[in-house]
Amino acid sequence: MKISSGKTRKVKLTNRGDLALYFIGAGSAFAKTLNQTNLLVVSAQDHLLIDCGSRCSQALHAVGLPLTDIRNFVITHSHADHIGGLEEAQLTGRYLTRKKPHMLVNRRYEKILWEQSLRGGSEKSEGGGLAFSDFWTVTRPVKLKGFPRETWDASVGSINIKMPRTMHFPDSATSWRNSAWSCAIVINNKILFSSDTRFDSELIESYDKLFNFEVIFHDCQLFTGGVHASLDELSTLPLPIKRKMILMHYGDNWRDHRLSARQAGFHSWAREGHTYTFPD
Ligand SMILES: [Zn+2]
Ligand SMILES: [Zn+2]
Repeated sequence: MKISSGKTRKVKLTNRGDLALYFIGAGSAFAKTLNQTNLLVVSAQDHLLIDCGSRCSQALHAVGLPLTDIRNFVITHSHADHIGGLEEAQLTGRYLTRKKPHMLVNRRYEKILWEQSLRGGSEKSEGGGLAFSDFWTVTRPVKLKGFPRETWDASVGSINIKMPRTMHFPDSATSWRNSAWSCAIVINNKILFSSDTRFDSELIESYDKLFNFEVIFHDCQLFTGGVHASLDELSTLPLPIKRKMILMHYGDNWRDHRLSARQAGFHSWAREGHTYTFPD
């Protein structure tokens, strides 16, 4: 893995073939000095945006990329720092570019996303009842058999993702099974992107055993409690895991925790605006 030394000034949707992850942001939902943790994956001619929060479009605009150029989306869960930009994506697709963007989404989460979030601002745009399919083209991920927990698989060209269910909210849920819909993303069988989740060592350890990840990007809250994994909880993981774990989705005061993260043995803090490249 190579981390760009400086921030990527101009972000492109194609490259020479390496797998590249551009961190649009690395901040928590309520961070003010950081962008939201949304990730752009690029490989050769293919791209995939993982989550599109309320400030995603503006953050992409700042690096020369209009949201309307993004063709492929996948969404990990329905908090606004992950879906708040989708209304813009679907309305500009229908009324500006007249090209539907494409989403990798299973039937169950499409219903949740449309009925509980996206429908309100779009259904009556033309008087009658528009549906999700009027705004999006859809690829249905396939449910994989034999995985430690419910896991879905889909691809955009050379980018493959596997989506294991996660345990994000409510904080009273005892398992991913009784949590609201949320998922992590395994990228090309070598990178785990946890998206938002409570501390769930079973997910990390069982999937690392299966894939032996090169790197794990993990949600990191700077205090314990609520619906995210905390730095203290993550610190209890085995050292070999922490050595390849890059912390993300952190609060504005992350610098106050640099020493404890270093002492615990974590790889680093995700650097927003930077590109992480994985040569084949
Ligand atoms: Zn979030
Ligand atoms: Zn969340």
